[in-house]
Amino acid sequence: ELAEFRRRTPRSAALFARAQGVLARGSEHVDPLSSPYPLFLDHGAGGEVVDVDGNRYVDCILAGGALSLGHNHPGLNAAVVDLLRERTGFHGHLDEFEVLAAERIIEVFPAAEAVRFVGSGAEADLAAARIARAYTGRRKIIKFRGHYHGWGDQFMVDLEVPGSGDFMAGGVPPEHYAHTVLVHPHRLDDLAAALAAGDVAAVISEPFGGESGLVPFADDFHQQAIALAHQHGALYVLDEVVTGTRAGIGGAHAVLGIRPDLITLGKGLMNGYPSCGAVAGRREIIEAAGTGLPDGRPFTYIGGTMSGNVLSAAACYHTLGELTRPGVLDSAIAVTADLVVRLNALFSTGGVPFFAYHFGTILRIELTAPHALLVEAERLPEIIARRALLADYMIPVVNAGVLSRMGRDMLSCGHTRADSDRVVNAYARLVELLG
Ligand code: PMP
Repeated sequence: ELAEFRRRTPRSAALFARAQGVLARGSEHVDPLSSPYPLFLDHGAGGEVVDVDGNRYVDCILAGGALSLGHNHPGLNAAVVDLLRERTGFHGHLDEFEVLAAERIIEVFPAAEAVRFVGSGAEADLAAARIARAYTGRRKIIKFRGHYHGWGDQFMVDLEVPGSGDFMAGGVPPEHYAHTVLVHPHRLDDLAAALAAGDVAAVISEPFGGESGLVPFADDFHQQAIALAHQHGALYVLDEVVTGTRAGIGGAHAVLGIRPDLITLGKGLMNGYPSCGAVAGRREIIEAAGTGLPDGRPFTYIGGTMSGNVLSAAACYHTLGELTRPGVLDSAIAVTADLVVRLNALFSTGGVPFFAYHFGTILRIELTAPHALLVEAERLPEIIARRALLADYMIPVVNAGVLSRMGRDMLSCGHTRADSDRVVNAYARLVELLG
């Protein structure tokens, strides 16, 4: 399969060799984990991409999930190109699109009463932590083990390079996460104890469990966690960077019927256009990051030359408009749900120990059944290590025409039933090889 991969992709190989000479990241790639070099992609439409060698793939990576509408969305791109003829940005001034985008976020996400745009999901999480600290006058942020909230120093305390056992906190002095408190994601008693220790500004969480649901939560977990946080005067921040445009209209908090104090958004909010991040939530809290507080607490600075720039704001406005058009996101979720059923049928008939499940348009394929993922803390590292084994199965799937970060896949509103047939066929090939 590796030889086949190399035979099909000589131009990607050549570009990768050049990249290694000039890009600090040239020797690093993660998609897919086990290929000898990353593919260079040339163009795409809907759920499909074509690489620089002309190979076609159903794309289930979607720029790390950022393409909520799929590649090259014609309406969105036409709107942004029209705007480009007029203006690109007016930092230091406001633009109508920033207002329109914020209005739309408030319309779509129940927890959003006011919005602050920033440059990425990571920045949104940093902003949320800063706002929470400013608002509460407290220092600690409680983070669930294994949850990802961007690469800010304070969040780099427990994140492992998948399967390697190496922690990713090189270059981060430990005092930078001295106020980050880790708790096990399924233990409300751990959370209660951490809150009771005092000085907690906020609890931050991914909605469906670490890394978009690797280890899902029990049904009413957030409800109880929010109540506990509030009991102790702490805020609850829901990181909707992935789920905001994938869980369903209004994000995971709408789907789960919970009310976090702050949400963070990114990725799919602008369908792949850059400078994509926002923090939103209760007005009185967000305004803690405004122009100083009447009670004399210090001014809370959140910056970014490109934060809320015209093109990003317009992309956000149009993306949310399209995403919330009746039937658009729902049918993408239906395509994902149907794909899960078909994959599980394939896996069980083929006798391979894979399990597919989904949260909205987030598709996960794991080596552990979802109910078994609600596990004791002790088994978490084992499950994460096991997942790394999935990388070994990647190449046949890619050779069969599907780009997948197996276990952490995404569909978009551009994916059709025909695309999902191609995904089933690619996995059928893998099952055959394993059989
Ligand atoms: N939060 C979550 C849940 C994420 O998955 C990610 C990105 N993988 C981020 C935050 C960071 O977003 P960005 O890469 O835009 O900084």
